[in-house]
Amino acid sequence: MEQLAIFGGTPVKETAIGYGHQYIDEDDIAAVVEVLRNGDLTCGPKISELEAKLCDITGAKYAVAVCNGTAALHLTAMAAGFGEGDEVIVSSITFAASSNCVLYCGATPVFADIKPDTYNIDPEAVRKLITPRTKGIIAVDFTGQAVEHDALKAICEEYNLVYIEDAAHAIGTRYKDKAVGSIADMTCFSFHPVKTATAGEGGAITTNDEALYRKLLRLRAHGITRNQAEMVHPTDARWYNEQVELGYNYRITDFQAALLISQLNKLPAFSARRKEIVERYDKAFADVPELIVQREIPESDTTRHLYIIRLNQEKLSCSRREFFDALYAENTRPQVHYLPVYWHSCYEKLGYEKGLCPNAEQFYEEVMSIPLYYSMTDEDVEDVIRAVKKVVAYYAKA
Ligand SMILES: *Cc1c(COP(=O)(O)O)cnc(C)c1O
Repeated sequence: MEQLAIFGGTPVKETAIGYGHQYIDEDDIAAVVEVLRNGDLTCGPKISELEAKLCDITGAKYAVAVCNGTAALHLTAMAAGFGEGDEVIVSSITFAASSNCVLYCGATPVFADIKPDTYNIDPEAVRKLITPRTKGIIAVDFTGQAVEHDALKAICEEYNLVYIEDAAHAIGTRYKDKAVGSIADMTCFSFHPVKTATAGEGGAITTNDEALYRKLLRLRAHGITRNQAEMVHPTDARWYNEQVELGYNYRITDFQAALLISQLNKLPAFSARRKEIVERYDKAFADVPELIVQREIPESDTTRHLYIIRLNQEKLSCSRREFFDALYAENTRPQVHYLPVYWHSCYEKLGYEKGLCPNAEQFYEEVMSIPLYYSMTDEDVEDVIRAVKKVVAYYAKA
């Protein structure tokens, strides 16, 4: 058996690769430079061009570009009207921003368990958490796989809830005949460099509801409007703008928008390559009983952001920690997505206790994400597979 790098053997890869990385080409660079040379740095035409592009990709009527995915979530929570005394049901396995936005508004996040095989929010778990105070659901397309929209939408209609989708992982994913972004009441995207397409920092909200759209536009810019129809004291004076509610400055710059437009031009290629790598991994791990791969629902045509391997602990003699460290030493560096949100000490201090979501908690103890990004070479992909299989072989129970 090959000696593991962690015990002094030769690492599978000479130089380390991480779980995600951006891909920037000369077109991206030229798009940014063009704005820096000739454009408006902010509040210019690249913003509406980006928003039109996002509508095109998602099939949504309206898009609002913002400075990051967290700002997108905050604005949707505000536009939904979440406030003190309200409960909002959130996926338990997600980046904390998905539920922090509920706290920003003074409302209470209520964590729903995941399905043990798809790792997405379980609609039956959601149903059991509904109370007269429930105002909305924030469902996360975890790893890029679409949530079970039909079931979640039915619950929202039955109880009159606002349906928010955190699609930070899922630009390019489709559910049945629709693109993610045109399904929930509001859908949030993130364009952080580890995500499928990047603006450096960036985010967006899509919606089909004009009233929500108008509100999101105002909230992105301090709550200020130049539209007389929205003013309490309308006037046609050229200088006049009116702050009609309390908003933020969550604008994105034009050079970031230009970068993102250029990135989104490559989205079909990004999606195709990610699908290719996922298929390669799925095939390689299908006959490895020590590993469990994520189940995909047939309704989701997924542009995968993360590839997760899950340890079958009955067949391995190591802990997740040992497996993680061994894989890390092979220079194919994994990451863990995610700690159940309510395990963070910030949430613990708010009174959330362990045991709330047993599937999520067990999931967390057994998983890690392995490298998945557009610019991986075929050799990188084969190296990752080799590294994972090397660690499995070492720790497999006889
Ligand atoms: C990345 C991410 C966010 C936050 O996006 P930022 O652009 O980093 O603010 C929110 N939710 C999920 C699920 C994410 O992965």
